[in-house]
Amino acid sequence: MSSLCFICQRCSQPLKLNQSMETSQEPEALMLIPAQGEPGKTQEGDPPSREEADFENLQEGASYRTLPGLPGGRTSWDNPDSFTLLGNLGSLRTLSNIQKAASDMFDILSGETDVDHPMCEDCTDNLLEQLDVQLTITESEIQSYKRCLETRELISEERESLQEKLKGLELEETRLVQELEEVEKNRERAAADLEAAQAETEMLDQQEKQYQKDYSKLKWQQLELHDELSSVEKRLWYAQIQWHQLEKTSIFNATFEIWHDGPLTTINNFRLGCLPTVPVCWNEINIAWGQTALLLLALSNTIGLEFQRYRLIPCGNHSYLKSLTDDCIELPLFSNGKRNVFLHNKFDQAMMAFLDCMQQFKELAEKGGSGLCLPYKIHVKKGLMEDPGSSGGFYSIRTHLNTEEEWTKALKLMLINFECSLTWVSLRYCQK
Ligand SMILES: [Zn+2]
Repeated sequence: MSSLCFICQRCSQPLKLNQSMETSQEPEALMLIPAQGEPGKTQEGDPPSREEADFENLQEGASYRTLPGLPGGRTSWDNPDSFTLLGNLGSLRTLSNIQKAASDMFDILSGETDVDHPMCEDCTDNLLEQLDVQLTITESEIQSYKRCLETRELISEERESLQEKLKGLELEETRLVQELEEVEKNRERAAADLEAAQAETEMLDQQEKQYQKDYSKLKWQQLELHDELSSVEKRLWYAQIQWHQLEKTSIFNATFEIWHDGPLTTINNFRLGCLPTVPVCWNEINIAWGQTALLLLALSNTIGLEFQRYRLIPCGNHSYLKSLTDDCIELPLFSNGKRNVFLHNKFDQAMMAFLDCMQQFKELAEKGGSGLCLPYKIHVKKGLMEDPGSSGGFYSIRTHLNTEEEWTKALKLMLINFECSLTWVSLRYCQK
């Protein structure tokens, strides 16, 4: 019987169908073996190849049979060096049918996979090794994809958490932006307030400087016024001392001093009167009359007396009286010393008028029991002074037909009356 011949679709080496089984007793099983020698002979006991698995599928359509040509009842799997075509070939004994059946079977195998059949054993081994490597890579990739999926789930959960966190942070950001705007407004208000406060501070500083200047000026004025006050207080103290001393002083006693020692009497050291043994110049006598007229006028003013008939005008050594009834009459209380032979010479009339005024003072002062009691009486009409004492007698104040001694005596009595009047006025009116 002729042999079936195939070519390995990879290395293009011819393959032979093993016909030992066919030539023996069993025509249903065919084996394919490499044409030259037995290269790539697989060891007995190796696991079945891919092609063998394909054959196994093929056997599902056919009955699995024990190859009767194999000793010990072994199946065709026990011979790894040959390919066995399975199937019921009992009715397909022709070579062309067998060849056609094998070709169809290889086409089916080639169509279901990317590998063209038939293949020699070496190519099959190479293919298996490549497939193993691809399988390993694929499994590694599967593991990687699994890890990626797990990681993605974790990332997804984490992403949701982060998105929630992001929403919270966005709300926080919005709130903080509003807060920032509010803070910015507050800052602007505070800046405006600060500017206003600085302006106010500057104004207050200027005011303070002005106040300081005013204070210094016022302080200086205070010191000056204090000095002035001290000076015034000292002057006041001195004035009070003087005032107390002056309170004890009688203005009349201080102004008018009447002194009599011997027949002549003096008023303020001016002698009023003269004696043949003690000549006194008429100028001194005139001055003494002026002082006496001033004294009588002062006494009258003190008790509020206005003279009747005469107005007394003291004027130093030219004092005089003026008649109130006749404006033309002026009676001089001074003389040049020449003897006047006329009875009614003006000097005598003036002295008598003076006695009239003095009598008016005496009468007013003695009213109401005021305590004044002049020692010597005055006779106005006769122009006499009366001494009521032990010596007794009347003394004329006129010069006409009179001696110097009597005239001087009358003047002395008159001045003594004034001395008493001075004491009385000082006690009554000047000391309180
Ligand atoms: Zn090959």
